[in-house]
Amino acid sequence: MVRLLKDESLVALWQRFFEEQCRSDIETIALEYPERRSLVVDYWDVDKFDPSLTELLINQPYKTVFNAEEALNTIDVAAEHKLKLHFRVRNLPDTHKIIIRKIRANHLGKFMAVEGLVKKRTEVRPKLLVAAFQCNKCGAIIRIEQDEDILKEPSECYEDQGGCGRVSSFKLSTNLSTFIDSQKIEIQENPEGLRGGTQPERISVYLEDDLVGEIAPGDRVIVNGILHSMQRRRGTFRLTSFDKAMEAVSIESQEMAFEEVEVTEEDEQEILKTSKDPDIYDKMRQSIAPTIYGMEIEKEAIVLQLFGGLSKRMPDGTYMRGDIHTLFVGDPGTAKSQMLAYMSKLAPRSVYASGKATTAAGLTAAAVRDEFGEGQWTLEAGALVLADMGVACIDEIDKMEETDRSSMYQAMEQQEISVAKAGINATLKSRCAILAAANPKLGRFDEFIPIHEQINMPPALLSRFDLIFSILDKPDRKTDTALATHILESHKAGEMHENIAKSKDSLYSKEQESVMMKHVMPIFEPEFVRKYVAYAKRNVFPVMTDETLDVLRNYYVDFRSSSEDSVPFTPRQLEAFVRLAEASARIRLSQEATIEDAKRAIAIIDQYLRRVGMDRETGKFDIDIIATGFSHSQHERMRSIIDLIKRLCNESSGGNAARSDIISEAEISGMESRKVEEALDRLKRNGQIYEPMHGKYRVTEY
Ligand code: ADP
Ligand code: MG
Repeated sequence: MVRLLKDESLVALWQRFFEEQCRSDIETIALEYPERRSLVVDYWDVDKFDPSLTELLINQPYKTVFNAEEALNTIDVAAEHKLKLHFRVRNLPDTHKIIIRKIRANHLGKFMAVEGLVKKRTEVRPKLLVAAFQCNKCGAIIRIEQDEDILKEPSECYEDQGGCGRVSSFKLSTNLSTFIDSQKIEIQENPEGLRGGTQPERISVYLEDDLVGEIAPGDRVIVNGILHSMQRRRGTFRLTSFDKAMEAVSIESQEMAFEEVEVTEEDEQEILKTSKDPDIYDKMRQSIAPTIYGMEIEKEAIVLQLFGGLSKRMPDGTYMRGDIHTLFVGDPGTAKSQMLAYMSKLAPRSVYASGKATTAAGLTAAAVRDEFGEGQWTLEAGALVLADMGVACIDEIDKMEETDRSSMYQAMEQQEISVAKAGINATLKSRCAILAAANPKLGRFDEFIPIHEQINMPPALLSRFDLIFSILDKPDRKTDTALATHILESHKAGEMHENIAKSKDSLYSKEQESVMMKHVMPIFEPEFVRKYVAYAKRNVFPVMTDETLDVLRNYYVDFRSSSEDSVPFTPRQLEAFVRLAEASARIRLSQEATIEDAKRAIAIIDQYLRRVGMDRETGKFDIDIIATGFSHSQHERMRSIIDLIKRLCNESSGGNAARSDIISEAEISGMESRKVEEALDRLKRNGQIYEPMHGKYRVTEY
């Protein structure tokens, strides 16, 4: 904080405020001093005491805060304990909250509140508070208080500090100087406030002393502080344009996403009434992206994802995620991106990002050394961290950077991202549900090729999605007609709306418009859905009944044993059932997850497996296809072909197995030649066999 001249009358006024209002607070702080060294005061307490103080605070913050600290540290309770406390004000009125993009020159020098997401933070570094200089002529120590970025040096060896009074040169003594911790963070506008496609604006915030180290990238904060400008430089030249920055006076963090959604008493009545509606599930589903035709299962998945399951922390420290991760894979132009965009507008704290990262932090997080850090390393948050406690909508996730891929496993399951690089050692939270979309590499989705080969994502990562839906675009007269009607009519409805609103004498009436709009109107308004979800997440924590456990257990066991030679389910799927059942119960605002919820979870997973987890050859479900990319039967076939090649190699003089021999021998044991060829290609691609000469194979020895 900049040191300024003392204003005796202002100090006296503050003294009276602290004595009358804050005695007991200061006494408590004294007990914990120096761990605690700030007095945090509510803006409205000051305002009630004397509105002229808050007015000064807003308009002349440097002077006012400086004098408040002078007063604070001289009142008897503080002086007695020799406290050196900071004065911090929080809870500014809405009239002094400002959106980053609206900051203008007339706000500079004012005390304001800025709300946003922490995007970056530098390491904590020491900053000179009082510099000690040694005179090169007489050796005296001269102390100079530092209140600017540029080092202030003594102009002479001051006699009042015991110096020789001559003009001299000085050496900075770091040992005798005092330092304060400082840190720079970057705040980005909240994504909710942004209209689609606009880049969020950012501001740098400087933190000092006990404010440092508390904030992590991804945190939602309100920074109350003083806006100021930082002169731009080009090399050693100082320019006349400035960057905006802020000096923090206090920081408030906002923990829960759904707390930002206000639910009034009236809303609550409406929510409770709606929850009893027997058609609540259908109505919720129909309220999701009504302009998108069909995709019923996908919309149901999105509804369940919005409500989410319960995350649990076990006594042994194990964390179990409650968020439901969903992936859409499919043909281009099937409204995948559209669906993601809709969700990102609907869900609180959601972030829309592309897998192809535009910043160094990418989807996860990174330690970077850039201009922002001014030579220091900076920790930067990516989309999953910024979406903490919300939904991360990630389009084209298949185009994810290699560097993100390794952190993705931890981010999806433990919902944390660790960064350890160049002295930065941090764990950031990524407690978000992921809704991702991927396009197949070859342009179109091929039901007969394992998903992981088509979308360039490792099977282990795919298996961390609770639900994966393939969306195919197959020509079909009936659905094509319905889809075309839906899209065309939505456009027509939109046209009518524009026409009525903007043309002088429209041919259409409001009635005609509303008839047309009807089929693209959501049953529940997005605002109501948000309130409903917020209410459920805050108040409903369903527990599975014993019967529910039975249903899920039986289904799991039956499914595994029904297909003896393939492995249909893994325990990971069982956890997905639990999350979906919990979400289903929450939709009804039920504190119990019943058989009905278990069945809904089973039905939706069944749909998913039917589409992507089915072994096309045997017609059986097979989670192996998702987990490893091969069905059990493909595994078996590849194994026997390897054995066959080994045998043929041993039998032949050259030690090779000819392609034609392999195929004909395999045909004798009942394999189709097409499948043998396919298996040979795959084995070669996997490196399990190689082709030393054209058409001759050998098994790779490890
Ligand atoms: P994707 O991301 O799957 O490639 P997009 O979300 O970009 O596809 O969709 C392409 C366009 O097609 C969008 O304008 C979308 O509205 C339209 N579209 C595709 N399928 C549907 C559908 N089922 N209902 C309504 N519009 C659709
Ligand atoms: Mg797309």
